[in-house]
Amino acid sequence: MNELIFFKPFFKQVLWGGCRMRDYYGYPIPGDDTGEAWVISSNPHGQSTVLGGTYDGKTLGELWEQHRELFGGAAGEEFPLLVKVIDADDHLSIQVHPDDAYAFEHENGSRGKTECWYILDCDEGADIIIGHHARTREELEQMIQEGRWDDLLQKFPIHKGDFFYIPSGTVHAIRRGTLLLEVQQNSDTTYRLYDYGRLQDGKPRRLHLKQSMDVIVCPHQDQNTQGPTEDHGAYETCTLVESGYFTVDRWNVKTEVSIAQNYPFMLMDVTAGKGTLNGAAVKAGDHLLVPAGCKTVDARGELELVTTHI
Ligand code: ZN
Repeated sequence: MNELIFFKPFFKQVLWGGCRMRDYYGYPIPGDDTGEAWVISSNPHGQSTVLGGTYDGKTLGELWEQHRELFGGAAGEEFPLLVKVIDADDHLSIQVHPDDAYAFEHENGSRGKTECWYILDCDEGADIIIGHHARTREELEQMIQEGRWDDLLQKFPIHKGDFFYIPSGTVHAIRRGTLLLEVQQNSDTTYRLYDYGRLQDGKPRRLHLKQSMDVIVCPHQDQNTQGPTEDHGAYETCTLVESGYFTVDRWNVKTEVSIAQNYPFMLMDVTAGKGTLNGAAVKAGDHLLVPAGCKTVDARGELELVTTHI
């Protein structure tokens, strides 16, 4: 089995969502408050389904259950990764995720969440929150209790093409005017630290101060994981992060490249341009699984690709 497996996303409408996914990718979003497209997801709260080909209509979860050979026999009860496109028309809450050990103990054996963000586009002057300025745990607790968010949180300006790695324990928030690709561990465990005092249906959303305090790494350590860009003429490539949970690479195809797939499986996101992958027409906004049996992907055209493997 060496055919590429394309997916149809699951959409989520939220308080802070927008309509860029329709404008950029032509996605059939359910409303102008669509914040998330779960583009490669086996999560029970929103599965992506196969679009065309041998497995048309099956969910990613069903493929993982019934056709583990597609994933090189990779172990685990659940598919390990989750890929989303996020359109933030307003600020998301300030949050933090536990690591595997904490989540296992405190969240019914579930897993932690390490994630990373690739900025697909953003408004001029857009920014993002990653990390904090507290030097000690006492200082962290004090600043949180006093609500000194501007002093505490570390803010960065962002630009199209920026990449951020966010290991579990890192305080973070996506902010207004940002469209990004998120690759993460397949987990839903989020601790909300601050929500700008907003109300949803007349009530503030639940905060998780104790859990947040338990898991926030202090002092914060900036992560610079992006490697150099290698120029090969017909294409450029760059490793964005190599971590224990996933390795993410970016490919800028100018004419063509043959991408080796020597892993149990590979995920591929077309983030810009159009062209072909092993002869199949693709365009920005397409997301696919390169199964174990497919050892090479011939990419042609003008394409930007983000690939992930475990
Ligand atoms: Zn997060």
